[in-house]
Amino acid sequence: GETITVKALAERMCINAGEVIKKLMELGTLATINQEIDADTATIVANELGFEVNIKVELDKETQLMMAEPEDEEKDLITRPPVVTIMGHVDHGKTSLLDAIRHANVTASEAGGITQHIGAYQVEHKGKKITFVDTPGHAAFTAMRARGAKVTDIAILVIAADDGVMPQTVEAINHARAAKVPIIVAINKIDKPDANPEKVKRELTEHNLIPEEWGGDTIFVEVSAKQKQNLGELLEMILLVAEIGEYKANPNRAARGTVIEAELDKGRGPVATVLVQTGTLKVGDFIIAGVAYGKVRAMMDYTGRRVSKAGPSMPVEVLGFSEVPPAGELFYTVEDEKFGKQIIDERFKKKREEELKLTAPKVSLEDLFNQ
Ligand code: GDP
Ligand code: MG
Repeated sequence: GETITVKALAERMCINAGEVIKKLMELGTLATINQEIDADTATIVANELGFEVNIKVELDKETQLMMAEPEDEEKDLITRPPVVTIMGHVDHGKTSLLDAIRHANVTASEAGGITQHIGAYQVEHKGKKITFVDTPGHAAFTAMRARGAKVTDIAILVIAADDGVMPQTVEAINHARAAKVPIIVAINKIDKPDANPEKVKRELTEHNLIPEEWGGDTIFVEVSAKQKQNLGELLEMILLVAEIGEYKANPNRAARGTVIEAELDKGRGPVATVLVQTGTLKVGDFIIAGVAYGKVRAMMDYTGRRVSKAGPSMPVEVLGFSEVPPAGELFYTVEDEKFGKQIIDERFKKKREEELKLTAPKVSLEDLFNQ
């Protein structure tokens, strides 16, 4: 931390160093004139002597950038599509449900592109868009949260009607609650002869998810991903929850969001699927995610179609990163490329320092003398 000598502190206040030493002594610190004292102690001493202290700290480029960012004003905000994640126990039908919704809601012109997998997609229901993010398991959800990223607005909890609440069901509930994300329960596989939706509801009451018909406030939808049953109703409920949540963002600012997934493509280089959460990402923007950076060379929507810009809640594939950014990493854009490179330099330095700390052998005095 910051320090200052007793002498320097006294000079700043235009008082005798002896007075500072005396004050320090009163506070229980014996100090000489050339002694360094920490910022907190100096502040207390100065305050006691009737001075105010302003501590100037050299801010790194990144902090400067974050602090320069203006807050959004209410009038700049527009409603954005809700971002939805599907969670639940293995084999309860998360992937099937994601696929069923996607296939049931794409227009014929898009149908060519949908065989390709990207970690997020959008559907339109009654003229309103919904973004689905396919988090690769709960681990990614946790990693994203650890980085401070809140990706999801709404969690769909999938539970197989023939199986009921399982350990990962409970985990999913905990994840959603920790992230303060509303839960919609989708009881799946109701086409199965041994489906028992009532049993699922009873089990969930133990976890405080109580259906409206029983006096609770949790929305339940009974679906079959296989038979494509009640999917429209599920989308309807998502839009209802979204209306209450009033999710908004400012499209007219530098883009910011989260890397959903990324990989190294043989032909195209690093390819990242990102979710834009605020602002608008454009081709040509200078983008940073972790220590990966670059100019956005091209963008594709989830159907593989090239787009020149992506607004709030839109997932896009981005080409142009210097390296593969990790899933869950936050990204943002900077207008000044030179400034952006300085931020990257700082990040590289910090990363190297951390690596050195990890690899530095721990040597004790004994080790040194016993060699
Ligand atoms: P995930 O592990 O949660 O992603 O589950 P999957 O989507 O891979 O589904 C697991 C199994 O359940 C697969 O064999 C699916 O075909 C089956 N399945 C999924 N949804 C339904 C459904 O609504 N009805 C029936 N009968 N089977 C389903
Ligand atoms: Mg799956």
